[in-house]
Amino acid sequence: MMSNLIDEVYDAITNGGVGFNFKETSLQALKDKIEITGKIQFNQIYEEVQLQDEYSIQILFPTDFPHTIPIVRETSGRIESSADYHNDKEGDGFCLGVPGEINKKIRDNPTFKYFITDIVVPFLYANTFHERYNKYPWPTRGHCSKGIIEYYQSLFKFKDERVTQNFLLNIAFFKNSISGHHLCPCGSGKKFKDCHRNEYTDLIKYHSHRNIQKDVLQIIKDNSEPKDKENLFKERLYTKKWYNLCRHCLRFLIKQNERSVL
Ligand SMILES: [Zn+2]
Ligand SMILES: [Zn+2]
Repeated sequence: MMSNLIDEVYDAITNGGVGFNFKETSLQALKDKIEITGKIQFNQIYEEVQLQDEYSIQILFPTDFPHTIPIVRETSGRIESSADYHNDKEGDGFCLGVPGEINKKIRDNPTFKYFITDIVVPFLYANTFHERYNKYPWPTRGHCSKGIIEYYQSLFKFKDERVTQNFLLNIAFFKNSISGHHLCPCGSGKKFKDCHRNEYTDLIKYHSHRNIQKDVLQIIKDNSEPKDKENLFKERLYTKKWYNLCRHCLRFLIKQNERSVL
């Protein structure tokens, strides 16, 4: 598997793919990932706007792909490192999308070339578009936990953000919530199997229960700075009950030595 992956990456770097080429690029096989450093050129058209551009990038492509989402960084300082640009140079690099959405895409097409063509190039296209026209070519989700909540809210068709949070917390950390005979944690009063179980079952085919837990922890982590707490309650994004439950779960998980997810 590993050598197939390196072959595929090498081929893409040497010969390019749909709408992209690599230039002045080096490839290094590390223990659990392949590091690709160099320049990527793309030529993409979206709704009649054709853009060509070049970026200096570093890609950390995990050998267990598509199980782990790759990290992509811009290395020349061209893209500002901030939530507005969906770019976190110190940490996870580009925020290429909500984990659930990326996982759905890459599980269906688990190749390096697909990842570049359909995930990395659109990200860079959107950035170039934004530089030129001061807006994004398509609607983008909120950054980090905001985007994650938006994603689940539309997936499960919830109207209320707090319903979404309660539902998520329950399915992530309270086992009874994912038993068909128990009440659905959306609060409808119906049994889980007669309410949101189908959507949940579809989701975990590409986004595991463990991934849902990680998403919930991301939401907690993003919002657990004590100084922001009161504002969050004011904005009614987070109820106190939910927040306290989250803190409880977080402590529980840390005790279980699951620090890797943080
Ligand atoms: Zn973002
Ligand atoms: Zn429900």
